[in-house]
Formats: sequence, structure tokens, C-alpha cells
Amino acid sequence: MSYRAVSARTQYSDSDPEDIELDGPIHRPRKRPRHPIMRFVCFLKDTALMIPVLLVLSIVAMDVYTMLLVSIPAKYHTSPFTSTIFGILFSIDIFLLVWSYLKCVFTSSKVADNPPPAAIVQAISLPRCAKCNEYKPDRAHHCSMCGTCVLKMDHHCPWVANCVGYYNHKYFVLFLFYTVVGSYIYVINEIPTIYGIMMGKRGRNRDLAVDVWGQAVPETITLLSGILTFSFALALTFFSSFHIWMVFKNTTTLEVGERVTKLAENQMISHKLSNKHP
Ligand SMILES: [Zn+2]
Ligand SMILES: [Zn+2]
Repeated sequence: MSYRAVSARTQYSDSDPEDIELDGPIHRPRKRPRHPIMRFVCFLKDTALMIPVLLVLSIVAMDVYTMLLVSIPAKYHTSPFTSTIFGILFSIDIFLLVWSYLKCVFTSSKVADNPPPAAIVQAISLPRCAKCNEYKPDRAHHCSMCGTCVLKMDHHCPWVANCVGYYNHKYFVLFLFYTVVGSYIYVINEIPTIYGIMMGKRGRNRDLAVDVWGQAVPETITLLSGILTFSFALALTFFSSFHIWMVFKNTTTLEVGERVTKLAENQMISHKLSNKHP
């Protein structure tokens, strides 16, 4: 049973809600600035944090446009079977990619949003964070960007405008996986088009293709989209492999970093000792 399920069950059936309300600061309502100017500043900050999210969705939209509305319809006349297969695979992948991405953006792993079960709070003395005073269970870490503690924190990701932790790490890994798969489908399908642009057609005909509405598509959009997607495919292959490896090892980026730091410190100490006593 998940941490949230235990929390919900204990809150609403096993114990008196009043006890939970009085138990600690994590059950208090969120502090929101009262002054209108401060509220406006908070609104601006929240909006600015969503800019990378809009950028990611724009790149996805550009890939969908160049692949499904330009490239696939153009190739359908010469190779209907291959282009249909590519179109179906890419459409399914993009749907799953956007779904997992939005779930990652809007799912919170913060302790404040996922309070510990009342039974645990009453039974044992949970440690608290010295910075935000929230409960700090095992594997929770304080995020300086969010200003609060996050359950099984992996890292703070500006590209999802959120902390990746216990409740959204699965969506983050799925998003990486679908991005890599989608990028390779796109690159394999677009290789002949991009090769054609770069090897001779460039300059003679600025509008190499038309979309399903008959609008001319500048080659710069196809080139930009292809180069960006190819870069993502390469970079995210290694990044997603690392995250899938961590899933199998039940560890996080922070924990791997801590282990590497500890190992380096131990090696330094043993090196100093061996120099003192040769
Ligand atoms: Zn904290
Ligand atoms: Zn964070």
C-alpha cells in the first residue's frame, strides 16, 4: 500500500481528524502572502517557472507538425505502408510522452502535500527539517529551489518546474523513455528529408514541402526540428539509461552523488594514511 493510501486511510478512518490538525505544521494551511504586491510577485515567479515547460511543449508541437502534418502526408503517396506505421507509432508515443510529462509537472512529492500517516506521527518521533520545519522521513531531502522537503527526492528539474521525487519519479522516467523512442522514430523518418536539404536542394527551393493545408513549410523549420530532435535523442539516451539503472537499483541521483562523495573522501583518507605510514 502506498504512503498516500496509508495516509488517507489513517486520516479518515482510524483516527480523529482533530488530532491530525493539531499534530504539526505540515497540516496547517499553506502560507500565502497577504499583500497584493507580494501576491503579484509570487504570480510572476510561478509564471516564469513555467517558461521551460512551455518551451518543451513547443518543441513537441513543432515535431508533431513537421512529422505528422508535413512529412508523413508527403511520403504517403510513395510509401503508404511505411509512412502509416511511422505515423501510428509516433502518434501513440507523443500521446504517452505528453501525458507522462504533464503528470510529472503537476504531481507533487513534497512532504507538505503528502503528510505522513497519523498512525506513524503518533507512534514514533519523526525528525524535522532544520530549514523548513516539515517532517523529514528517511530519504526525504530539502530542496532549496522549492524551499521545502521532498519525499525520496531525486533532483529539482527546471524543465518540469517541479521536484522529481517519490510520487512523480515514475512519470519522469516514462517521459524520458517516450522522448528517446519518439526522437529516434522522428530522426529515422526525417533522415532522407534532412539529407536532401543539406546536400543540394538548399538555396534552390526554400519551400521544399507543404503541409496538409497546402501551406509551404520553410526548410529552416524542418532543419531546426531535425537537429534539435537528433540532439535530444543522443543526450537523453544516456540520461534515461542512467535513470532506468537507478530504478532497478532503487536509488536516486542524490543518493548516488552522496555515495560517490563518500567514496572519494574514504579514498582521500586512505591515501593520506598510506603516505603517513609507508
Ligand atoms: Zn526542509
Ligand atoms: Zn525543488
